[in-house]
Amino acid sequence: MNYCTMCGASVSSRIPAGDTLPRFVCDECGMVHYHNPKVVAGCIVSWQDRILLCKRAIEPSYGLWTIPAGFMELGETTDGAAARETMEEACAVAEIDDLFAVYNIPHVSQVYVIFRAHLNAPEYSPGEESLETELFSKNEIPWDDLAFRVVRAALKRYVEYESVADHRPYVGDIIRR
Ligand SMILES: [Zn+2]
Repeated sequence: MNYCTMCGASVSSRIPAGDTLPRFVCDECGMVHYHNPKVVAGCIVSWQDRILLCKRAIEPSYGLWTIPAGFMELGETTDGAAARETMEEACAVAEIDDLFAVYNIPHVSQVYVIFRAHLNAPEYSPGEESLETELFSKNEIPWDDLAFRVVRAALKRYVEYESVADHRPYVGDIIRR
């Protein structure tokens, strides 16, 4: 960044007193600008024994399938954000059940918080960011056409869920290849 968000003066990258990492510090007012990981909230939404997926109408990964998920807005809760994304992407009301998994993606400084959720009725349709929305049974999941590695990892674990002995929320890492 070049300019202070508080006063508009120029900033320089330096390690503030008592800190360990370089930050953008305002040369005028001293404001320290911290850049921290972003949280993506999403959910694996089921209707009976099928899972709701959305085909992306936006880049990145245009035309590939994903679960409803997106960056949290300021002031939101994680489960609230997951339900909002489901409404935006699939015009569906997700009833959030429980925390399913947390995936760290350190090379892009993102954290995915993924819930299990369900529909109370099979009512869904493509939102602005989706080309299609569809329910898939576990053996119909389009593994070769999924949008992101984290989505693939979460769905894989979900499909294997019954055979996994440990049903506590899973914490996984997606590491740069
Ligand atoms: Zn400033």
